[in-house]
Amino acid sequence: MDNEMTLSFVALSENESLARIAITSFVAQLDPTIDELSEFKTIVSEAVSNAIIHGYDEDGKGIVTVHAVREGDVVSVVVKDEGKGIPNIKKAMEPLYTTKPDMERSGMGFTIMESFADHLQVESEPGVGTVVTFSKKFHSMKMKQIS
Ligand code: ATP
Ligand code: MG
Repeated sequence: MDNEMTLSFVALSENESLARIAITSFVAQLDPTIDELSEFKTIVSEAVSNAIIHGYDEDGKGIVTVHAVREGDVVSVVVKDEGKGIPNIKKAMEPLYTTKPDMERSGMGFTIMESFADHLQVESEPGVGTVVTFSKKFHSMKMKQIS
């Protein structure tokens, strides 16, 4: 392992930007392209906003943890909450499926995460919480010099 970070914060939507800023700084050492960086930030944002909004109903108390590890040019991230959990993961991951249509959610979060990540795994149990794990390889040239 070449680098590692953990960030924990309470379930308030303003903390989504905190996660985005931290993860952007963490992958900056890989000199990502604009596309790589924007895809990576989007995956983190979608997973973190799901934890805050769906896991904890933005209660300002539940803890969301973002753990990132870099190994060479691959970054793996775990976004974890101990909120309400997902009863049917397969259904939740279908495009356009949302349990909060009233809040103008499009139900596309998981679909977007899957398309931008190289690997994505969702584990969840009602009443226990949700863990989203993903990894993404960065292809920049500079990496070869610093590894
Ligand atoms: P969008 O992401 O487009 O704003 P959305 O969040 O509803 O809408 P997804 O991110 O694809 O869509 O999530 C689908 C559904 O899975 C959610 O509506 C919610 O019911 C459930 N879900 C996702 N993440 C969690 C979580 N961390 N805890 C509990 N339920 C979740
Ligand atoms: Mg979502």
